[in-house]
Amino acid sequence: MKITHIECHILVVPDLNEKATSSSQDNIVVKVHTDEGITGIGETDTGPWLAKAAIEAPGSHTMAFGMKDILIGQDPFDTTALWDKLYTYTAMSGRRGAVICAMGAIDMALWDIKGKALGLPVYKLMGGSNKKYIEPYASLQPHGETVHEYGDSLIEWTKKAKALGFQAAKLECTLGGPYNHNGLKGDDRDMTGIIAACREVVGQDFKLMVDVQYLWYDAKSALRTIRDWENLDLYFLETPLQIDNLSGYATLAKEAPMRIAAGEWQNTRFEFMDLLDKAMIDVAQPDVGRVGGLTEAIRVCHLAQDRGRLIVPHCWKTGIGIAASTHLAAVAPNCPLIEYLPAELCDSSLRVELVENPLIIENGKISLPVESGLGIHLNLDAVEKYSIDKQVLV
Ligand SMILES: [Mg+2]
Repeated sequence: MKITHIECHILVVPDLNEKATSSSQDNIVVKVHTDEGITGIGETDTGPWLAKAAIEAPGSHTMAFGMKDILIGQDPFDTTALWDKLYTYTAMSGRRGAVICAMGAIDMALWDIKGKALGLPVYKLMGGSNKKYIEPYASLQPHGETVHEYGDSLIEWTKKAKALGFQAAKLECTLGGPYNHNGLKGDDRDMTGIIAACREVVGQDFKLMVDVQYLWYDAKSALRTIRDWENLDLYFLETPLQIDNLSGYATLAKEAPMRIAAGEWQNTRFEFMDLLDKAMIDVAQPDVGRVGGLTEAIRVCHLAQDRGRLIVPHCWKTGIGIAASTHLAAVAPNCPLIEYLPAELCDSSLRVELVENPLIIENGKISLPVESGLGIHLNLDAVEKYSIDKQVLV
């Protein structure tokens, strides 16, 4: 089988809110076509225009080839070999950042092709699973232009997540710091009050996590507040510090009363080695697209497994990424949960509409996928509706 063509489609919601800390408002969908009529689908979570350029831009020499040029004519079954080839021959502009994110979308599509060609779900090709189901946690970022409105809304959504059957939820509580959501300005006491109220409505028998999106500058400022959160029994605290403050993370990993999680932005296993060995994080959160695809994500799972740490993949896009996370979680014994934006509790119409056959959640659990490949069907009407260039995928 040979790769014959690669299409990149940039999708954006019409009601784009630039003040929102939410990447579910845009997407790049990559389709990899083959000479046997099988097409693979992938997506990645980065600036979609950058990712498209990373794939389509022509190259000029051995350290800066174009990705599309490298891939045309290659066998899509060679996922590991192609990953190495792309990494090596884009090294001058790549190695990290948008080029690796774009490689992630391509790699996802190649695994989709392999599964479709063999009539097997991707996780079977990755080694199979000892699990009966995958547990998604509801990732919640509700409405509100003021701290009060947002807090009330988050409490309400947490209650709804439990009513929908979820047994775990993450509170996006970004009331300050560099990425404060919707321009919200609250202090640490506001956060503590909101999280405590959310704990109250779900009771103790429910996993609660908090994401503060790089809020604090230093570990001591974080500790002053999060020591008070011990009795809230948080499953993990996500990205409390700037991501390059590895020594600060190591301090928190040692002294915080809950697990520390990070990794949503990280590209390649090499960046996860730093998070695991220098920052000493408890929970690694590779985003399958951003880390460089399933080929690289499974390597990160192994790194974490060897060190006795957990994996909880990041996913803030659509049903494509959720499917990729599900296959990853199926094969990784150290992956207890995956991030999941519930269609009922989510502002992104792209998330809701792009995939026609969303994974079914019953009693808070997703059964192992049975369809071949990633097992997703794109809604072509949605692709057309949200496409910035109005191209229709065929
Ligand atoms: Mg996050």
